[in-house]
Amino acid sequence: MHVLVLGSGQLARMMSLAGAPLNITLSAFDVTSNHVVHPLTQTIIGHGLPQAIEQADIITAEFEHIPHDVLAVCEQSGKFQPTTEAIKAGGDRRLEKALLDQAGVRNAPYAVINNRQDFATAIEKIGLPMVLKSALGGYDGKGQWRLKASDDVERIWAEMAQCLASAENQAIVAEQFIPFDREVSLVGARGRDGNIAVYPLAENIHVDGVLSLSTAIDAPQLQAQAQVMFKAVAENLDYIGVLALEFFDMQGSLLVNEIAPRVHNSGHWTQQGAEVCQFENHLRAVCGLPLGSTKLVRETAMINILGEDSLPNELLAMEGCHIHWYGKEKRAGRKMGHINVTADYSGELDRKLNQLATILDPICFPALQKRSSSV
Ligand code: ATP
Ligand code: MG
Repeated sequence: MHVLVLGSGQLARMMSLAGAPLNITLSAFDVTSNHVVHPLTQTIIGHGLPQAIEQADIITAEFEHIPHDVLAVCEQSGKFQPTTEAIKAGGDRRLEKALLDQAGVRNAPYAVINNRQDFATAIEKIGLPMVLKSALGGYDGKGQWRLKASDDVERIWAEMAQCLASAENQAIVAEQFIPFDREVSLVGARGRDGNIAVYPLAENIHVDGVLSLSTAIDAPQLQAQAQVMFKAVAENLDYIGVLALEFFDMQGSLLVNEIAPRVHNSGHWTQQGAEVCQFENHLRAVCGLPLGSTKLVRETAMINILGEDSLPNELLAMEGCHIHWYGKEKRAGRKMGHINVTADYSGELDRKLNQLATILDPICFPALQKRSSSV
């Protein structure tokens, strides 16, 4: 079985590693250079996208910001999984919010802003504080503003107007600020036969809009709520593959923040912590194979490596410490890899995370430091 992945970053890389034992081979389409590349080495392979589409059994995506003309030719081939509609919804907050409403899942009250008048109406309707997010192209907290007081309106509008003018069909989605207790996410897969398998929830700590630490948790009451919402969204989209839902936990009640129609950073812990990881389950789903067990096999946390390309060798000697590099060039704040830390029980996991906090640089591992100072 050969799978072509749209996008050639770390998610395609990890899918490729997970596919090998099942004899599923991957090639990746780099949407920036328009080259088809090997997902591990980034070496250019084959003779361009049309040939890669022709040779693939299945086509899927590792991220949602795919040019629509590329999605269209892939869809025409009849090989694309999940639907292009799901990818487009993940890449446009207007469509995403409409989808959440249509699926009947709770999300933050919102309004769409195309001009200054819409902004005034949104402030009236939603009230302050509010979070403003560009409809297209946002990730890792980029393209967002926080409006806390009315004397900030003009300053923020100047930046929003620039954003609106910067891309065709751009808009801004204003959302009520949700004073959440914590953020959690649910990663799961839906197979071609409609079967759904979800992983345990992960609790996520973001610093400056970027995920830093993700820990698999046992929270039956939240898990039950999350599963109902996952099923509603996945079935509404007739989704096939791995899908992630990010939530705000407000006093035990979940609201969906956003969806990601793909494998997700908050599911990387499954590589060591679950029976079958999210990358393998995505491939199983899109290839029409039975889904693998999503059962937690050991306590696991995932720590993102931000803007660092080397780590002390002593980490490799630490039991339950697994390093996953992405082979990327170092840049400040860039996701360069992650560390999965496993333990037999949660107290031991805490101890290991505390130990890592004493070894690792707080700039590159911000949540680890924050966490150990609050424990
Ligand atoms: P991602 O990298 O997850 O795709 P993103 O750039 O798409 O991130 P969001 O997940 O929408 O953006 O927002 C980033 C972070 O900002 C959230 O994880 C949350 O901490 C905060 N945030 C977003 N929306 C709200 C809201 N309505 N109320 C309070 N905080 C919010
Ligand atoms: Mg997010």
